[in-house]
Amino acid sequence: MSEVVRSIAALRELLLPIRHRGESIGLVPTMGALHRGHRRLLECAREENGIVVASIFVNPLQFDRPEDLESYPRTFETDLALCSETGVHFVFAPATAEMYPQAQLAWVDVPALGEYLCGQRRPGHFRGVSTVVMKLLQIVEPRRAYFGQKDAQQLVVIQRMVHDLNVPVTIVPVATVREDDGLALSSRNKHLNRQERQVATVLPRALNLAKELVDQGERRVDAIQAAARAVFERHPEVRLEYLSIADPETLVPVESIDRPVLIAAAVWVGSTRLIDNVTVSP
Ligand code: AMP
Repeated sequence: MSEVVRSIAALRELLLPIRHRGESIGLVPTMGALHRGHRRLLECAREENGIVVASIFVNPLQFDRPEDLESYPRTFETDLALCSETGVHFVFAPATAEMYPQAQLAWVDVPALGEYLCGQRRPGHFRGVSTVVMKLLQIVEPRRAYFGQKDAQQLVVIQRMVHDLNVPVTIVPVATVREDDGLALSSRNKHLNRQERQVATVLPRALNLAKELVDQGERRVDAIQAAARAVFERHPEVRLEYLSIADPETLVPVESIDRPVLIAAAVWVGSTRLIDNVTVSP
């Protein structure tokens, strides 16, 4: 059974002797509503570390819409059962007041990477993510921290933050876990009704088509954009927010495909926003 820890001081006290013994600590930051995607991260952390800490914290700093924060799924009891099953040692689940006892005046930001893709539509989102992840890294001091490739931009922002600020942790990327029909698992999939759930597969299908075109030798960004956009146009119930073909490290849109690229998209299905991406090498 995982031990639930609510306070920063208590977690530090529990982890100190473990770190002194030289045991490696793996951290998996989450916002809860855990699914098989999170489970994969936890399993990777379990395989590679003596002790695993999962954090479950719905971070208000990264929500740009109050209604999204309010309706974010919260399923603590089943999350805890999944953590216990996966062999997580500590579940760090602080209250908001524990993480942010006062207005947050100090922030961590990687502005050049927050500008593109999701950052254009969600001002302040990545600054909120970087800030909470930095706090979690300071609290847990893990040897390794695990992040899903599903949130490609988040992963790039965190990798760059850790690199530029010399944070002594290894960031481990974990491949996206999908449903059988290709839809990437996401806590937000819970908001989809049956029809929306069916049509949501247009997102991985369009990204796969883009990947196939590159695999077949297409190098023109415009042609790939047009083909993928045509897939979305056949489904007016899905609103495409962006489709970007970008450098996987700088996230700057590329003009032609002569090296590996990140193809990333965000869509709205009803009132639910979904993101997904593939990395393609020519
Ligand atoms: P979240 O709880 O949505 O903040 O996600 C916590 C971590 O799980 C992040 O590093 C996500 O990238 C990762 N994650 C979410 N969905 C998936 C998925 N389908 N496959 C792999 N990792 C995922």
